[in-house]
Amino acid sequence: MPSTATTAPTPGLTITDRRLGTYDRGIAGPTIVVVAALHGNEPSGVVAFRRVIERLQERDTPFRGRLVGLAGNLPAIARGERFIDEDLNRIWQPRRIERYADTPRDKRSVEATQQAELLDQLDSELERADGLVHFLDLHTSSAEGKPFVCIGDTLRNRDFATRFPVPVILGLEEQVDGALLEYINNQGHVTVGVEAGQHDDPSSIDFHEAFLSLALVSAGCVETAELPRYEEMRARLRAAGAALPRVLEVRYRHPVAAADRFRMRPGYENFHRIRAGEALADDERGDVHAPETGRILLPLYQGLGDDGYFLVREFARSWLAVSALLRHLRFGRLAPWLPGVHVHEDDANTLVVDRRVARWFAVQVFHLLGYRKKRDGGDHLLFSRRVEPA
Ligand SMILES: [Zn+2]
Repeated sequence: MPSTATTAPTPGLTITDRRLGTYDRGIAGPTIVVVAALHGNEPSGVVAFRRVIERLQERDTPFRGRLVGLAGNLPAIARGERFIDEDLNRIWQPRRIERYADTPRDKRSVEATQQAELLDQLDSELERADGLVHFLDLHTSSAEGKPFVCIGDTLRNRDFATRFPVPVILGLEEQVDGALLEYINNQGHVTVGVEAGQHDDPSSIDFHEAFLSLALVSAGCVETAELPRYEEMRARLRAAGAALPRVLEVRYRHPVAAADRFRMRPGYENFHRIRAGEALADDERGDVHAPETGRILLPLYQGLGDDGYFLVREFARSWLAVSALLRHLRFGRLAPWLPGVHVHEDDANTLVVDRRVARWFAVQVFHLLGYRKKRDGGDHLLFSRRVEPA
């Protein structure tokens, strides 16, 4: 396939080598690690990465640092399905990874084997990196809609993510457990999740290509002048994000199980405005209503997946500035002195917050201070400090 052709991603793409390509001219600099198609029905990122690296190679583009692309779920990609046994983007809990290290291959799920192989390659890249590592996880969605990025809310992630002229979503990682992005983020790297549009829409490949090109420039690997059509790609993203808020936070996730027979009603796309009480979907119990007013994100229009939809709301940029200031001042260190708050006895980076007290200074205060909600522990909420890259 010619590297610039705009063709729909083919379900059933065969990938024989997980390593999609490496570009390294031996000049010190940042490392960019890209994972594509962690979900097998999202091959757009694979096609886009190949386009980008082929162009770098053809033009022998000057480059600082190293670019590496890895494919995610190979058996699921071959079948054009989200996953085979379990979701490869929900199994990156460190305890589970440790436990599986000793499990024989024939006792593992398809995805546990994929994870082990991917982890080998990720570990070797992260270990050899001497500059800052930027990690990009490329996805598409079952619904139509504008592209966006999502991050765990560290200052370094914000700085990198806000250079893409599209909406930045905060707090998605609090809602889903075991995502690869969060696993890499917690090792202190800069991480951005990229959603490029609908799975089979050819423009999703163009958007992924644009994200990768902008990432190479903003990480400091390539000069804009060295990338053909750079301004065009930037304009493509800017146009897509033009009418949307710049930063939004996740307010709600609607979890679904297969037994729910969840069916999203037609016509919703990412960022579509919804009103409190609006009937968005149907399931075994009847109408599924929006719990509050906001915008919808990632409504589920495919069989596999356990997130029905997310509800997001604009996050005022002034609050971003306030929270950056509080974090620079290391205000979070005062959090354990708040009433009803103490440090977890086994983990200095985790706060235990009395739920009766927490309602007075809501979850948002801990977000501002750089903590993420980890777990609901009955009377208590657990918050962990986000690891800022060094
Ligand atoms: Zn995905």
